[in-house]
Amino acid sequence: MKTFEELGVSENIRRAIAEMGYENPMPVQEEVIPYLLGVGNDVIALAQTGTGKTAAYGLPVLQKVDPADHHTQAIILSPTRELCLQIAGDLKDYARYIDGLQVLAVYGGSSIESQIRSLRKGVQVIVATPGRLIDLMHRGVANLDKVENVVLDEADEMLNMGFTESIDEILAGVPAERNTLLFSATMGREIERIAKSYLHDYKEIVVGSRNEGAENVNHIYYLVHAKDKYPALKRVVDYYPNIYAIIFCRTRLETQEVADQLIRDGYNAEALHGDLSQAQRDLTMQKFRTHRTQLLIATDVAARGLDVDELTHVINYGLPEDVENYTHRSGRTGRAGRRGTSISIIHMREKGRVRIIEKVIGKQFEQGTLPEPQEICTKQLYRVMDELERIEVDDNQIAPFLPEIFRKLDWLTKEDLVKRIVSREFGHFLDYYANAPEIVQPTSSKSEREDRKASGRQSGRGKDRAVGPRAAEPGYKRLFINLGKRDNFYAREIINLVNRYVKGKVQIGRIDLTPNCSFFEVPEASAGLVLKKMSRAMVGNRQVVVDDADPTGDKPTRRGSRRDKSEDRRPSHRAADKASNGRRKYGKDDWKQFFE
Ligand code: AMP
Repeated sequence: MKTFEELGVSENIRRAIAEMGYENPMPVQEEVIPYLLGVGNDVIALAQTGTGKTAAYGLPVLQKVDPADHHTQAIILSPTRELCLQIAGDLKDYARYIDGLQVLAVYGGSSIESQIRSLRKGVQVIVATPGRLIDLMHRGVANLDKVENVVLDEADEMLNMGFTESIDEILAGVPAERNTLLFSATMGREIERIAKSYLHDYKEIVVGSRNEGAENVNHIYYLVHAKDKYPALKRVVDYYPNIYAIIFCRTRLETQEVADQLIRDGYNAEALHGDLSQAQRDLTMQKFRTHRTQLLIATDVAARGLDVDELTHVINYGLPEDVENYTHRSGRTGRAGRRGTSISIIHMREKGRVRIIEKVIGKQFEQGTLPEPQEICTKQLYRVMDELERIEVDDNQIAPFLPEIFRKLDWLTKEDLVKRIVSREFGHFLDYYANAPEIVQPTSSKSEREDRKASGRQSGRGKDRAVGPRAAEPGYKRLFINLGKRDNFYAREIINLVNRYVKGKVQIGRIDLTPNCSFFEVPEASAGLVLKKMSRAMVGNRQVVVDDADPTGDKPTRRGSRRDKSEDRRPSHRAADKASNGRRKYGKDDWKQFFE
């Protein structure tokens, strides 16, 4: 690895970046800086935000500026105001020890008058959004005759936002012998067109591989019916108590609606989209950057200016129209050596797009099974317990109040107290999941399921769906029962229930539990008796259904004579559907099981 000095960076810039903590060049800088410090070099760099690209072009561009000349010598175009401000801020920091060098950010949505006044004083480096720069050019205030370097930062995003014509106009208005540097996270056809039209003998630099999603990012999708998208989102968010995420929506309206719903449901969430005023957007981003907001619900465009490294998840509330937007979104997590997850909550019609994205990013998605209420509540409970353990108690501060507190709570045992504290902290999860709508996840087609199984990509939680058709142990018969973990039915409950209805203690073999139903094995000789006796079984006022679970068995099932063949092949699914009526929901008192 070379040093900044070996790359040719001047002493005054090295001093500034050393103060900023830049010790060694990042890979994109190592490649781009020496090349740009040469003469007449155009560059296309495929590099995402977070790779160090601002310094890669910023340091050589600043170094080539003559601070004694007050003409504009470099322009940097970027898609949003936020990015303009960020780039200009970085460049000012790099140029701290270059006397007389002026950097100015100009962008739409704020007073053009003050920008004109600043420009008239002489600015060597303009960082601009394309629309505002055109406006300033038309007014004769931005004079680009002496421009030697033009940088298009996040070029793909500028094109996505409809700045193609403005970029064409700006590039046509600067001297032909300038250098043009194009930075983009992805390489689309339009970028290639711009490169062909305006760049000369350019060097193509790829940081990481071309069009690839970040290495450290897992891609998961949950397939749900459109009506279940929001409850599915809640489950995902609830399952990760320490989540710090951007939830991407496609439209401003949807962004606001999802944010409103989450806020109403008690989440620390805020919306970020173009209908908000600039001041509101700035405040929202500031709160998110400093972790005062946990969930940011944003449109692709509005989130462009936001640069945070520590996201645990990116959530796609539906897939973006454009694969490039998916790359941008998912590239926001898994940064700075961390692992990240890009979760997509999609409905059936979007599934084709998953395949397209997989091809472009060169990575496969995992189809996930949504966490069950029981799993979520357990996770949240552990969060509460962890937090309780970590609370720092200031003994001195609390001491004067303790006698009164002890007197008041004297009648409660330690166990009562713990239960109360935990109920208070996580009771709202139980309340919600007691009545939460059931989410039916449509399954993939049969062939696809087999493909996924063969390639071992089925998610861990999805495995319980596969327990139905397995063969019984030799000498045993496998039976289905319409009660599952969601009903708080576990091995002990199944054994107790069978023993209550079948006299003489039946031996029960292997038991497999799934959320909605379970399977248990009894000796073949006892199976007939168990089926007969269990036909009367009730739990509360709910009819228990026990049936032959062997889908290929040739013996007729208990109700075989009345059913057609197709029903015979899928007894468990039929029964499970039937059983979901009148299901006892996860109840408020059920948290007690965690202590028992
Ligand atoms: P960028 O891709 O330009 O948005 O940069 C990502 C982050 O890396 C920014 O916070 C930069 O300040 C930081 N950065 C850029 N170059 C270096 C370097 N050589 N050493 C340490 N940090 C850097």
